[in-house]
Amino acid sequence: MSFQVNKIREDFPILDQLVYKHKLVYFDNAATTQKPRQVIDAVKYYYEHDNCNIHRGVHFLSQRATGVFEDTRSEIKQFINAASPAEIIFTKGTTESINLVAHSFGKKFLSPGDEILISVLEHHSNFVPWQEICKEQGAILKFIPLDNRGDIDMEVYKTLLNEKTRLVAIAHSSNVLGAVNPVAEIIRLAHLQNIPVLVDGAQAIAHLPVDVQKLDCDFYCFSGHKMYAPMGIGVLYGKEKWLEEMPPYQTGGEMIQDVFFDHTTFNELPYKFEAGTPNVEGVYGLREAIHYLQKINMNEFGEYEKQLVDYTLDKFSRIKGLKVIGNPRERAGLISFLLEGIHPYDAGTLIDKMGIAVRTGHHCAMPLMEYLKIPGTIRASYSFYNTFEEIDRLAEALETVKKIVG
Ligand code: PLP
Repeated sequence: MSFQVNKIREDFPILDQLVYKHKLVYFDNAATTQKPRQVIDAVKYYYEHDNCNIHRGVHFLSQRATGVFEDTRSEIKQFINAASPAEIIFTKGTTESINLVAHSFGKKFLSPGDEILISVLEHHSNFVPWQEICKEQGAILKFIPLDNRGDIDMEVYKTLLNEKTRLVAIAHSSNVLGAVNPVAEIIRLAHLQNIPVLVDGAQAIAHLPVDVQKLDCDFYCFSGHKMYAPMGIGVLYGKEKWLEEMPPYQTGGEMIQDVFFDHTTFNELPYKFEAGTPNVEGVYGLREAIHYLQKINMNEFGEYEKQLVDYTLDKFSRIKGLKVIGNPRERAGLISFLLEGIHPYDAGTLIDKMGIAVRTGHHCAMPLMEYLKIPGTIRASYSFYNTFEEIDRLAEALETVKKIVG
């Protein structure tokens, strides 16, 4: 194994602790990733050296912090290969990015009878905003079903695209089934009918290299905290041609050009969509998180995470009564499963007492639970700092749960 996991773990101080007298195993990375010391230090550095409000200040600190803020925008442009920094909008996270598009795009382009197309596996963040804007505009929300493996049913998808479809919104990778959706093909097919596509990249950004120009998506959304950066910072990428046409989502300071008593003119991109004081400390942290990911090499750790998943599937195949939910053609970093006759909540609570953090429940995808006719799942989601020994511990813990509850 060329991947130096033990060395990497030294960068994550939180991992080195006991929980209920057991060494912590953190398998809840799809909810949020832990932060390397470099990211924690970058936030601390900001408050010790550069703290101040940005853009409007003429003084030294403001200019220095503005420099880092705008440099980070350019680094993100490069990280996801956007065409211009004007296409990178800082938000609170994926949820806010999707709400921004749903409300701004929806108000401008959705009329009664129009359709928005999403899939049944979407996180509530890529579900409820569309449900609400459709209700407001009199539009119809339609759903792409799954095939029997748990992948997007591409044949049905093709039949759902039509002249009334105004936008397709789809997860790059599912936070429940782990499936990597064929977004490039989904986008290609939508574009044949001039339909724009929004990709919810919350679960993909820390596992797969993302190239928005190659994908040709119209919008791409992600959260810093799921890619080793702080909470409360995220990104909306949007093609300039759409962002130019869309009205502001929120109004206030920063997003204006001129304000008169009777009307206001709006700032240029990307500032038109960045009302109010932004999360500058979060941007400092996000920049360092990107440096960290680039340093440890996405291709190498992607392969390592794949090995962790394969190892788990192999281990799980030998646990009687364990059922893995979904069998996607391509999987990124997580596995959902059930233990026969044991409620996921009970299993999660018992596993926790053994020092292992997994997530249980509906994973903010209640419609998917209804679709699959299950109450919830147990989910183990991985990062490059997880190890094969930790997976052994999970497998042992599951056998213990079976003995206790069974
Ligand atoms: N989309 C997916 C697929 C997710 O997994 C999540 C969070 O788990 C979100 C959206 C929402 O992300 P956030 O809460 O950071 O806005």
